[in-house]
Amino acid sequence: MEGVILLTGIETKRCWDCGRTLPVGEFCGNRSMKDGLQTQCKACQKKYREDNRNRILLYQREYYEQHLELRHRQSKRYFNTLLGRLARVYGHINQRCNNPNTHNYYRYGGRGIKNKFMLDEFREYVISDLGITHIDQIEGLEIDRIDNDGDYEPGNIRFIIPKENMNNRGSNS
Ligand SMILES: [Zn+2]
Repeated sequence: MEGVILLTGIETKRCWDCGRTLPVGEFCGNRSMKDGLQTQCKACQKKYREDNRNRILLYQREYYEQHLELRHRQSKRYFNTLLGRLARVYGHINQRCNNPNTHNYYRYGGRGIKNKFMLDEFREYVISDLGITHIDQIEGLEIDRIDNDGDYEPGNIRFIIPKENMNNRGSNS
């Protein structure tokens, strides 16, 4: 037996798992055991590892699927609340103003348009100053700047239907 130090000089050992009495060569070494051998034979150990591995894989897969679904539901719910929707609108504003990789950046950040709101200020402004207290009030609408050359800031934003938004852009720029 390679690498195993037998402490007792025994030649056979009974496996605690399958109950078979086997030559010591059928057991792996374990220095923490009194006889220097595992309590399970190699075959049982292998089987245990495989069973356990399958259990873990199954658990992990189920967990992942549940987790995905939960996250999906949570995000859907969140974006269906007023605060969640405003956070998304705000995120889009930031993208247009600050991310040169955004397709329409050239019409916003690219020509100096800034987002002067912090997220909380933006939501507070929309709710208190624009009087939008329910998501239904902005369903299907887009955020718009009243002065097309002005920033996203108090006094210069409103929600309008997307079509009007397009016309407004055309006539002002
Ligand atoms: Zn065994």
